[in-house]
Amino acid sequence: MKTVSSLLDEEWYERYKSISRLNIRSSIYDVTNRCNLRCKGCFFFSSGEDKVAKEEMDPEKWENFIDNEKKRGVNLAILIGGEPTICLDRVEAFYTRLSTFCATNGIIKVPRDRFPHMMVGISLWGDEEDEKVLRGKDTFSISSKNYYGDPHAYYLYTITPKQIGKTERIISKIRDVGVKVHMQLLSNDEGVENFFWTKEELEDIRAEMDGMLDRYPDTVISSKYYHEIITTGKMLDRTFGWGECPSVTEPTDRREPRPKSLIGFIRWASDLKTMHRCCTSETRDCSICKDGAAHMSWVMVNKRAHMRSEKDLHNWIEVYEMFAKLYQFIPW
Ligand code: SF4
Ligand code: SF4
Repeated sequence: MKTVSSLLDEEWYERYKSISRLNIRSSIYDVTNRCNLRCKGCFFFSSGEDKVAKEEMDPEKWENFIDNEKKRGVNLAILIGGEPTICLDRVEAFYTRLSTFCATNGIIKVPRDRFPHMMVGISLWGDEEDEKVLRGKDTFSISSKNYYGDPHAYYLYTITPKQIGKTERIISKIRDVGVKVHMQLLSNDEGVENFFWTKEELEDIRAEMDGMLDRYPDTVISSKYYHEIITTGKMLDRTFGWGECPSVTEPTDRREPRPKSLIGFIRWASDLKTMHRCCTSETRDCSICKDGAAHMSWVMVNKRAHMRSEKDLHNWIEVYEMFAKLYQFIPW
């Protein structure tokens, strides 16, 4: 039988050892149902997830809930919404108890005196024109001032089909702001015309993402295997979708057979009682899902399948390292 140590040389084995001791147990929290934007294609609003639960307003209930999450074994809180920065007291309740990542559109600045080391992922949907069409404003012009040179922030750049051939301008702008960038693909949950992916476009964007990683290695946090997985929806000989997705809320998961999944994963609504189906839209068609975190996690929970060759195991390590960097478990 192939073992990890028999497949790796000394350097790769050291890399493997540093991630294998991490034991990341994440869950996702809707901090609020409100947002200061209304983007076309926002999975939260388009699937009505903002209406399924009434926001809990009592700060003590949030604190008790987070304490219980910690007891449940969660060691990474991923805060989404709505826009978490509208409710900084709740964000602080997480931050003072757990490793915390906060997704934001970057319009409200997270005050660094209150949250000195919290990783902030700033959403960016293409260039200025795309952002105006999809989000109603050019958020980059605001977020880039709020997070200039911030070592604990990165752009989560959602690439749309209209970005093919244009990503370098965005990546170099982000480099000039002095923060990192991670790329993912638009899933187009609201069917905005001309924003669906074709097979050819996915091939083109894969090559472009590889090129960005080669040319901007100090800015782009990514891996070519991740680019392959997210653009093809294939991992080894398997196809991504409902039957394979690892990011399904564990207590509600009735799939048979149950695929390898994130242990103890729950996506909680803001009433602190309701559980959403998965890490993204309740109503999304899994066959077109491009969710970056779900694809990364798909690789991460399937280590054994990647032990068929040295190259496959290297790919697995690179994706795991990418995830660990994005959530600050290892340095950039
Ligand atoms: S900023 Fe985020 S939460 Fe708000 S509408 Fe846009 S995608 Fe949705
Ligand atoms: S929509 Fe995406 S993340 Fe959600 S269950 Fe389907 S494949 Fe998984």
